[in-house]
Amino acid sequence: IIEANLTPIWGEKGGMGVVALLHDITPIRYLEKLRTEFVANVSHELKTPVTSLRGFTETLLDGAAEDPEMRQEFLEIIQNESLRLERLISDLLDLSKIESRKVRLDLEEITIHELVPPIVKTVEEQIRKRELSFELNLGNNFTVQVDKDRFSQVLVNLLSNAMAYTPAGGKIGLSAGEDEKCWWIRVVDTGIGIPEEDLPRIFERFYRVDKARSRESGGTGLGLAIVKHLVEAHQGTIHVESQVGKGTTFTLCFPH
Ligand code: ADP
Repeated sequence: IIEANLTPIWGEKGGMGVVALLHDITPIRYLEKLRTEFVANVSHELKTPVTSLRGFTETLLDGAAEDPEMRQEFLEIIQNESLRLERLISDLLDLSKIESRKVRLDLEEITIHELVPPIVKTVEEQIRKRELSFELNLGNNFTVQVDKDRFSQVLVNLLSNAMAYTPAGGKIGLSAGEDEKCWWIRVVDTGIGIPEEDLPRIFERFYRVDKARSRESGGTGLGLAIVKHLVEAHQGTIHVESQVGKGTTFTLCFPH
């Protein structure tokens, strides 16, 4: 999109000309469009659980509360929807803090054998409940520099996705290692996979391959956007490979 400012000028001998200043405003318009889209997405994402909360409380107040089974079922839905709303708001606040670069990393030196097992411990119970098997392969020990809390957030997000998108009986793996260029961490699953055409977009805010499935698993659609920002704040890169029906691998790489 080009915006033009035209200024007439007169020459010494009475001739007339025009000075044209051309500005390419495409990037500004593009950013405006992204912002409008984001606000629309946020509103929609917030509205969905609120509508459901209102609907179920109204039905309870209208008499459904008298039936003990219905009451239990509806209260559980209300609880799940409020939890999702809470997660959504906390992810949104986090994302806005990270994107406005207000997050300062509290870097510390720690070995990979000290860093990873406590993080895995926080999701072990969930892995078991979902009847998935888990393999941890840390290999040789080495020292890294990370913000422990933020790094934990990255791994928990990736492991939660692996759990959410892998049917019972499947496998999840986490491995780490070093090569000449970088130290890396890999989260592997044998889940539903991601179609090739969706791969470039999964790190966008609110982008989901299957909206219904993401909602069902309690996802906010913001997890991978947050992960990517945090990995980049650690000067790292994130790479994904996937095959539909076979599984997905996320590799994080941090240069030495
Ligand atoms: P969500 O809260 O929906 O999981 P994310 O930002 O974490 O949001 O992920 C975006 C989308 O990427 C998901 O909705 C899902 O479609 C896809 N995805 C992420 N991780 C995996 C995985 N391990 N296996 C299959 N699909 C995945």
